[in-house]
Amino acid sequence: MLLCVIRNRVEEVGKVAKVLLKDIIKIYDGDVKAVDRANIEIQDKEFMVLVGPSGCGKTTVLRMIAGLEEISSGDLFIDSKRVNDEAPKDRDIAMVFQNYALYPHMSVYGNMQFGLRIRNFPKEEIHARVKEAAQILDIEELLDRKPKALSGGQRQRVAVGRAIVRKPKVFLFDEPLSNLDAKLRVQMRAEISSLHSRLQATMIYVTHDQTEAMTMGDRIVVMRSGIIQQIGTPLKLYNTPINRFVAGFIGSPPMNISPAGVSEQDGKIVVKEEGMTVVIPESREEVLRPYLGGKVLMGVRSEDLKFTNEPKESNLNAKVIVVEPLGNETHLYLETKDSQLIARTDSEHGFRVGERVDFTPEVKKIQFFDIETERSLLYSE
Ligand code: ATP
Repeated sequence: MLLCVIRNRVEEVGKVAKVLLKDIIKIYDGDVKAVDRANIEIQDKEFMVLVGPSGCGKTTVLRMIAGLEEISSGDLFIDSKRVNDEAPKDRDIAMVFQNYALYPHMSVYGNMQFGLRIRNFPKEEIHARVKEAAQILDIEELLDRKPKALSGGQRQRVAVGRAIVRKPKVFLFDEPLSNLDAKLRVQMRAEISSLHSRLQATMIYVTHDQTEAMTMGDRIVVMRSGIIQQIGTPLKLYNTPINRFVAGFIGSPPMNISPAGVSEQDGKIVVKEEGMTVVIPESREEVLRPYLGGKVLMGVRSEDLKFTNEPKESNLNAKVIVVEPLGNETHLYLETKDSQLIARTDSEHGFRVGERVDFTPEVKKIQFFDIETERSLLYSE
C-alpha cells in the first residue's frame, strides 16, 4: 500500500522544476546589501543546500525564490519562466519554516488541509491528499490533535506535511531543524533526505550547520556576507575548497590553518611554521615557487595528521594541551609556539596533557592559500 502511495506521489510530484538565479541582488531599506550577484542553477530534483554563517544572506535568497521578498535586480526563473513579478501563490512552491508556523487553534488535519482549502480544492481531493501525506510522514494517529499537544519532531512533520499536500514544483526549507534537540535533528535529517528521494522533488534547504549541509545536499552553496563563495558537491567543497573561508567552514573539526614561510632547502621547496615542516612534492612545487621567501596560509585537516614515533622530514612537533576522548576516536588539541591545531587519533593511544608528540602530515592533502587574497593556490574548476 505504502509503496503504491509513494509511486503515485512520484508521478504527481515529478514535475520538472529547475530554478535559476541570474545576477540576483537584494538591497534592503537602509542600503543593506544582503545578496550580491547570486548566480545559482538548481537542477530538477536536486537537493541544494544554502549554507553560511548568520547574516550571510541565505534566508533572503530563499525568501526571494518564494516570492516573500522583492528582488532588487537580476532574474529568477522557475522552469525557464521568469517569475520575478509573480505572486508567491502562483509560483507553485511550498516553504517549511524554522518555527513551523502552524495555526495553534487548528488540528493537524486542519493545518494540513488549509493551503488546499483556500485554493478551493474539492473536499474529496483535500481529504485524499492529507491522508496520503499523513501516511508518508507516519502521523496518521495525530490528525485530530492540536499543535500544542505535539512534540517538536511531530510538529516538524506536520509542517512538512502541509508542504507535501500542495504537491509543489519546489520545496523550500528555512532551517527547519534548528528548534529540535540534537538527537531528533539527526533523525529528521535522515527523514527529509529519504523524503527527497521518495518524492523526487526539487528541494532548496537553508541551514547554518555545515554537517546538515554535508550530509543532506546533492550540492552546497556556501555564502558569506551576501556573496556566494563556492558551489559544489559536499566532497568537492571538502577536498578542494576555493578559499580559506570555505576550507574553515566546511568540515568538523575545522581545518587547521595558519601562516607559514616558504623557503628552499637542498633543492626542495619547504613550507615551515614553528613546530611544523612540510617538504613539498615535485607536483606542487610550481604553485609554491612564486611564494619563495614569503608566506602562505597552510591548511591541514585534523584527520591528515598521523601520530608517529619516528619523525619524518615532513613533521609536526607539538605539545598536547587537551585530550578529548569521543569513544570511537580522540581529538587532541595541540600547541606549537604560534598556533593551535586539532588532530584526530584513534582512542587506543593514551595521550597525556603536557607531553610532546610528533605527527606526520599527509602532504598530498595539505591546502595552501594566498595570505592576502585567501584564495586557494591549488583550486581548479
Ligand atoms: P540567519 O542564519 O541569522 O537567519 P541569514 O544568512 O539567513 O542569517 P539573512 O536573514 O538573509 O541572513 O540576512 C542577510 C542580511 O540582511 C543581514 O545583514 C540582515 O541583517 C539583513 N536583513 C535581513 N532582513 C532584513 C530586513 N527586512 N531589513 C533590513 N535588513 C535585513
